[in-house]
Amino acid sequence: MNMTVVAAPSRLLIGGEAHSPTAGTYPIVNPATEEVVAEAPVAGPGDVEAAIQAAKEAFPAWAQTSREERARLLNRAADIVESRADELAALIQAETGALMSVARWFQVPGTAGRLRRYARGALEVRDVPLAPHPVPSTVLGPGALAGAIAARRPVGVVACITPYNWPMGSMAGKVGPALATGNTVVVKPAPQDPLACLALGEIMIEAGFPPGVINVLTAAGPEAGAALVDSPDVDMISFTGSTAVGTRIAETGGRTLKRLFLELGGKGAAIVLPDADIATAVTGIAATWTFQSGQGCILPTRALIHRSIYDEMVAALAAKAGSLKVGDPLESDTVVGPVISAAQRERIEALTQSARDEGARIAAGGVRPEHLARGFYAVPTLVSDADPAMTIAQNEVFGPVVTAIPYDTVDEAVEIANGTPYGLHNYVFSRDLTAAYDLAPRLRSGYVSLNNSLQHPEAPFGGFKRSGLGRDGGSFALDVYTELQSVVWT
Ligand code: NAD
Repeated sequence: MNMTVVAAPSRLLIGGEAHSPTAGTYPIVNPATEEVVAEAPVAGPGDVEAAIQAAKEAFPAWAQTSREERARLLNRAADIVESRADELAALIQAETGALMSVARWFQVPGTAGRLRRYARGALEVRDVPLAPHPVPSTVLGPGALAGAIAARRPVGVVACITPYNWPMGSMAGKVGPALATGNTVVVKPAPQDPLACLALGEIMIEAGFPPGVINVLTAAGPEAGAALVDSPDVDMISFTGSTAVGTRIAETGGRTLKRLFLELGGKGAAIVLPDADIATAVTGIAATWTFQSGQGCILPTRALIHRSIYDEMVAALAAKAGSLKVGDPLESDTVVGPVISAAQRERIEALTQSARDEGARIAAGGVRPEHLARGFYAVPTLVSDADPAMTIAQNEVFGPVVTAIPYDTVDEAVEIANGTPYGLHNYVFSRDLTAAYDLAPRLRSGYVSLNNSLQHPEAPFGGFKRSGLGRDGGSFALDVYTELQSVVWT
């Protein structure tokens, strides 16, 4: 393998300093070229403990800093991210295989945007003053008029464990509100692509966050993350990743009653009502092919289509899938780049094969692209005539695969949409906005989009059922990283 020359951080960040890892390094592979981008540090048990203790020691003083100071530092970090945008985009692109356009115009500005949003959040007072309340005399004391406030206090040391599909943005979405509300953090990015997260940690230290307020640990396996979950000195886990790992974290973290914020997997359904505009529905559902090669938790991976328009929709979706250019993420007209790893491509191919084996039809894609000799590519795939109980219709693929399922009645569509363990994001397509809106309360998911596949940055984000616990997004994120404290006076 050749080395791609990308300036990448190579040390852990503990207590405000770069530390050589005690457990060596491991290679980060560019998913498009299969070349090594750089070596990333492996945190050993001593490094994990040192980071936790640094965060614990820094907490009391950081929790006392003014809101204005926290806002100033978050804004300063955003300024540095913006000033280094080209270099960060190149690093993200190389380690994730994302389209360069997505890295440059979405991931980097999105990271700076989240830091700025929570700089404003630091200034937002979410304490609730309560009305004076007459309290009668009891054995506890003489009667009085009691005043109270429900105040928001930081939780303490927060471990932020993030997934591979949106690395720097996920980190900013966690550390932004956590630091804004006075917590200290230990960040553990995903093993596949941790370099931009290390770079963001360096930027935050350069911005002036005091030693220990932000620490970043990287590792090739799950041990460092598991040690954070196990530690009695970590007060909260903010986790985004798979339902399987999130469930394990809930079990282990429960032993020390950790505060848990869990953003987990999804198996979104797009219900296409008979009156839907076909072009709008196709564009919305195609996000599963066009966004990060289908590696997104919120994507509409199941198309539930009314039988009266099923054939027309499947033909339109198949045509769309076939029209998308798969290839080099550095080329400006590429729409679908690689998935993160050979293992992820094999998982996608195995699930597609299960669809064939269980009797569904592959209406588009389903084969490895012959023109791409290197790189972990999976082509946009449409599985049609699927049964809702099939493996492909029940399991998160996390790749560019849409499963089309016909339905006859709205009740049946709702039952299919709700018929998986997940409940993250569903979609309704109809020309009748009222009919679409009226379906939302019947859908068991934290998010419902009508005739679009956009995200509202201020809307609460999180899952019903096994898609997670808690909500972030906008000001809701400020509540996630705080405990309510009642202060009462007479
Ligand atoms: P993953 O669950 O495999 O890994 C996520 C993180 O958990 C990584 O940093 C990993 O090293 C760490 N980890 C693994 N085992 C651990 C353990 N025992 N204890 C502590 N940490 C551990 O997920 P992934 O493959 O990186 O990401 C894809 C998944 O993330 C998909 O399921 C996707 O739906 C989900 N996701 C959810 C959201 C959301 O907001 N709901 C957003 C993005 C991704």
